[in-house]
Amino acid sequence: MAKSIDAAHSDTSFFGDVCQFFDHAAQFTSHPEGLLDQIRSCNSVYRFRFPIRRGNGFEVIDAWRVEHSHHKSPTKGGIRYSEMVNEDEVMALAALMTYKCAIVNVPFGGAKGGIKINPKEYTTAELETITRRYTVELIKKNFIGPAIDVPAPDYGSGEREMSWIADTYQTMNPGQLDALGCVTGKPLALHGIAGRKEATGRGVAISIRECVDIAEDMKKMGLTAGMSGKRVIVQGLGNVGYHTIKYLIEFGATVVGICEYEGAIYNSSGLNLDEVFTHRKMTGSILGFPGAQKEFKNSAEGLEQDCDILVPAALENQITISNVANIKAKIIAEAANGPTTPEAAEVLMNRGCIIIPDMYCNAGGVTVSYFEWLKNLSHVAFGRMDKRYEENANLNLVNMVEKTTGVTLDAVQRSLIIKGATELELVNSGLEDTMIRSYHEIRDVQMANPKIDGLRTAAFVSSIDKVAISYMNMGIWP
Ligand code: NAD
Repeated sequence: MAKSIDAAHSDTSFFGDVCQFFDHAAQFTSHPEGLLDQIRSCNSVYRFRFPIRRGNGFEVIDAWRVEHSHHKSPTKGGIRYSEMVNEDEVMALAALMTYKCAIVNVPFGGAKGGIKINPKEYTTAELETITRRYTVELIKKNFIGPAIDVPAPDYGSGEREMSWIADTYQTMNPGQLDALGCVTGKPLALHGIAGRKEATGRGVAISIRECVDIAEDMKKMGLTAGMSGKRVIVQGLGNVGYHTIKYLIEFGATVVGICEYEGAIYNSSGLNLDEVFTHRKMTGSILGFPGAQKEFKNSAEGLEQDCDILVPAALENQITISNVANIKAKIIAEAANGPTTPEAAEVLMNRGCIIIPDMYCNAGGVTVSYFEWLKNLSHVAFGRMDKRYEENANLNLVNMVEKTTGVTLDAVQRSLIIKGATELELVNSGLEDTMIRSYHEIRDVQMANPKIDGLRTAAFVSSIDKVAISYMNMGIWP
């Protein structure tokens, strides 16, 4: 059966790269080509333009929303604000969302949005106009809604933009009880969820911890098991990069390098995250940071410095055939979407490196977005109903044990045992469990078939199977 046009692969296409990874993995499944083609292709691509007033004139803004797969509803995916955004990129990111949701068992189809602007060049008022108009265009075409398609933050967007989207949607849908579930990544005051902002970075750090804790896998690369002493370089000090560094340090790793678009810094004994962050905020650059031993005006050189783990957390196409020979890391944790091209990935695999694939590595964000959506639909914060009940039950138990044994706990011990879970604790627990389970699910798929050449292929095999089962159960496929 012929492939659909949008599934045609090309050397320079990000969507083509995703399809290339997909096709490589599909050979390890037994689904008919027609079904694979349905899974691989983007179902709906909405490209639109709208004008905004700017200065004394007008400017036309290019924008997209792509819904890759409707095997589950709603579809879900972030909105990227970048002057580099294009249709191919949004399609690729939407496809990755489908596979990502399947891997972490989040019941959504994949989607993605893009607005072709450099947000740094617009005033807050202009950004609000653009975001609200973008939302209205989605509403007009039924491309947004708590049961239809639920956007989230991505590169260049955050809580502020999500608030504007929620408010616009609510205004246009008066009386819709679940309206706030139309978007996730909202601030807490607007029914967001505790822990969402840091979720992606936290998930990335957990994925790395799971990987390095397996002694057998580390031994093959000449590394010891455990996070302690692992030297890490992170590219991107945005939402994902910042939180990845924060939790990696908390888990015992040493962050030796940080790369931003203006340059990179390196210190073999470790960099202090808060000091680097403050320095950049004060001076507008990470260069000139007093705690760095070396600095590079060409940021890409930072990726090539000595380390055990490299975490690209900025944009796609950062590890390519032109720089892969100089990459020293043995583990690549893809916090960004699509940072490694298929050709570079092949070189790294042949070298015996482990690539923790984007579709799993950065899935913490969508996992906690799922929790936020559930919270919005249930209209109650997690823990609100049972926290006090749990504490009272624990207190009764402690009192009984103390009475029976004659042992008295001190105040710290008592409060540790008695304490009921807060929303943040429940979210972090759900996130950690999801990341740990999914890592082992993927690794088990890899271990079960020696021909499966890495975690990415295993992740694709696992998600293709899950999406295929959904389609077959729906009766779309006989
Ligand atoms: P962000 O806008 O908060 O941060 C990105 C950072 O990368 C910025 O500080 C930017 O200056 C820096 N950067 C840009 N170009 C660079 C370059 N060439 N070299 C070094 N640094 C560069 O974006 P984010 O939300 O942190 O997203 C980063 C990546 O993670 C994207 O690929 C995104 O799709 C992916 N991701 C984000 C989330 C999320 O929850 N935010 C979830 C999943 C995946």
